[in-house]
Amino acid sequence: MKQPDLQIVVDQIADEMAQQSERGVVADYIPTLASVSPSHFGMTIIDHDGNCYMSGDADVAFSIQSISKVFSLTMALGFVGDGLWSRVGREPSGSAFNSIVQLEWEQGIPRNPFINAGAIVVADILLGRYEPREILGEFLRFMHTVTGDDTITIDEAVAKSENETGFRNRALANYMRAYGNIENTVERNLGVYFHLCSLSMSCHQLASAGRYLMCGGRRAPGTSDTIISQQRAKRILALMMMCGHYDGSGEFAYRVGLPGKSGVGGGILAIAPGIASIAVWFPGLNSQGNSQLGSNALERLVELTGWSVFRTD
Ligand code: GLN
Repeated sequence: MKQPDLQIVVDQIADEMAQQSERGVVADYIPTLASVSPSHFGMTIIDHDGNCYMSGDADVAFSIQSISKVFSLTMALGFVGDGLWSRVGREPSGSAFNSIVQLEWEQGIPRNPFINAGAIVVADILLGRYEPREILGEFLRFMHTVTGDDTITIDEAVAKSENETGFRNRALANYMRAYGNIENTVERNLGVYFHLCSLSMSCHQLASAGRYLMCGGRRAPGTSDTIISQQRAKRILALMMMCGHYDGSGEFAYRVGLPGKSGVGGGILAIAPGIASIAVWFPGLNSQGNSQLGSNALERLVELTGWSVFRTD
C-alpha cells in the first residue's frame, strides 16, 4: 500500500468524524471531567522520522487519565524489573476498568497493570522508593524527558475531584491491602494514583510521549538515547494490545489492530510499531469507557494507511 499524505489523512478523518452523530457520553463520575465539552476533537500523528501531522484541538491539554498507566508501568518496571509481575498479572481482564470481582478469585493480584486495580498496585510499587511528592516529581520528570517538553503538568483540580469521588478505587485498594498486595496506606497510595491519572496533556504531547514505544525503547530512531530496552518496549506494546481498552480490548484489536491505551478523558494513544505514534482525543465514551469517536478515527486511520500490525500484504 502506497503511503498516503498523512496531513490529508488527518484532515479527512477530522471531516469524517465531524459528520458522525453517535459521539458517546462524557465521563461524569469524576465531576471535573463532566464539564468537558463533547465537541472537542484532536489528532496527532508523529511518524518514525519525527514529522508531525495534526488536526483539530491537537494542542489543547486534556486529562489523559488511564493512558498514564502506560507511563507509570514503564517507570515501575525500571524500578523493580520483572519482579513487578509477582504482584500484577499480564492477562486481559474482560471486565470493566474499575471491576473488583476478579480480585477475589485471584487473591488480590490484579489481572493486568492497565485496569484500575493493576495501576493502583503499580502506584504502590512506585511509592516503595519515594515519598508521594517525590514520586510525582519523578513521574513528571520522566514525562518531560520522553516528550522533551517540560510544560506538562498534573491538574490538581482533577486529582481533587477524583479523590472526593474515588469510592470504587478505595474499595479496590482496601481489598488488595487485605491480601497484602498494597504496602502503603490506602490514602497515601491513592493520593499518588489519582495524581498520576490527572496528568494533563495535549494530543501533540501524548504522541511525542509514545515515541519511545514506537522506536523500540529509544527516544528517537537512530540515537542512543534509550528510555527502556527494546524487549521491554515490545512487551509493553503487547500489554497495550491485549489489555489497553479493558473489556473493549478485543474489539479494538479487531477493528484497529494497533496496541493502544485509552483513558476516560476521551484520549487514546496508539502505536504503529516502527511507523508512528498517534494520539486522538474525543471526550465522548462508549459503554466500555473508551473514546467512541477516537476508536472510529483510529479504525479509519488504519484503513487509509494499512498500519495494522496484522497486515499481511
Ligand atoms: N482515574 C480514573 C479512575 O480511576 C481512570 C479510569 C480510566 O481512565 N479508565 O477511575
